[in-house]
Amino acid sequence: GMNAEIVAVGTELLLGQIANTNGAYLAQKLAEIGINVYYQTVVGDNPERLETALRVAESRSDIVMTIGGLGPTDDDLTKQIVAAHLNEQLVVDAAAQKKIDDYARTSGTLKTSNNAKQALKINHAVSLTNHNGFAVGDLYLNAHGTDYVLLPGPPSECLMMIDRELMPHLKKQLHGDVVFKSKVLRFVGVGEAQLVTDLQDLIENQTNPTIAPYAKTAEVTLRVTATATDEQAATALVDQTITQIMARDGEYFYGYGDDNSLASVVVNQLIDRKLSITAAESLTAGQFQGTIGSVPGVSAVFPGGFVTYANEAKHRLLDIPNTVIEHFGVVSKETAIWMAKQAREKMKTDIGLGFTGVAGPDELEGQPAGTVWIGIAYRDQAPEAFLYHFTNGRQVIRERSVMSGLNLVRQ
Ligand code: ATP
Ligand code: MG
Repeated sequence: GMNAEIVAVGTELLLGQIANTNGAYLAQKLAEIGINVYYQTVVGDNPERLETALRVAESRSDIVMTIGGLGPTDDDLTKQIVAAHLNEQLVVDAAAQKKIDDYARTSGTLKTSNNAKQALKINHAVSLTNHNGFAVGDLYLNAHGTDYVLLPGPPSECLMMIDRELMPHLKKQLHGDVVFKSKVLRFVGVGEAQLVTDLQDLIENQTNPTIAPYAKTAEVTLRVTATATDEQAATALVDQTITQIMARDGEYFYGYGDDNSLASVVVNQLIDRKLSITAAESLTAGQFQGTIGSVPGVSAVFPGGFVTYANEAKHRLLDIPNTVIEHFGVVSKETAIWMAKQAREKMKTDIGLGFTGVAGPDELEGQPAGTVWIGIAYRDQAPEAFLYHFTNGRQVIRERSVMSGLNLVRQ
């Protein structure tokens, strides 16, 4: 498939004074239509280095997309540099010029030569209308065998131009009249490395659909994107590939969609199954309960629970005998089981969870940060507990603990 390189232009980006949020947004939108972004470059407002960045981008990418430097001031030079690089003239875009003239007339301000600069487009390029500003964008197909796209820097202008102008053009002009279908699959309890290994042949050998993995803090998503001449055919291609993926890794799959969360999937399963839940939390200090609490409708299955950080709290709120913690340690299978069991009995729920572990940074009872036990008690069945070893610092350890607790409850 096609691959794009995003070249974000601006010294303030280079110095880290602002983040490249436009680039992030653009990359996501391109992924949705099956265009891979292999490189993102950031370069300062410097003509020579911008020219170098364009040369390099062009040598390794099908589409080069610049962001920024289309404004009226002297340091805005992206369009001039790209035009010179392509041996093209800049010409006036009549519609953009009229917009500037109209504004100058109605607001009573004088038009300057700098404003006029914003109405210029690269000769032979298609103009991309700026719905939130004056600087016109450009789409230049097949220059030096590469497609060029120029977008403005201010996010309100850039994002609107991506959505309203660029994406429709890309879908039509770069791919003919094809339909894109894309589905996101969400997995938990499996690392990205394992998932990619399981699916290696599919990921490497397939071009339609494409499979793009993406690892988040405690879960992995796969985006499956297909193109076809109609919606039905594209959907069928996507679904075929999903069937293959499920045959290998279905046990870790928990839901579809970009915005779907494990918490909402699990809470809705509990609501459907009429199973109530509670938790006693040590290292997560209420984060599990806060997470399920963010799901609308959770009150049907969640009466409340316990934050028992200190041993004293585990004893006083949950009636865990001091001897249990003294004998086995607070980060232990037995303590996790007692927490789950006592929480369930006190709240009279179907399910009780117990979270105990070392959030870090320091070790505890000789156990390293990231050592976590999660206990689960389900009705009258014998309670169990599971051991995890998480890494990557205190907040990630706590978040992974929450996700693992949800995963234990997931059907
Ligand atoms: P202007 O007309 O404002 O000069 P421009 O197209 O020349 O627009 P820049 O001058 O490069 O764009 O940037 C304008 C502002 O937009 C910057 O100060 C910055 O706040 C924001 N901006 C630029 N590039 C990005 C980016 N890649 N991601 C997020 N914000 C950006
Ligand atoms: Mg500028």
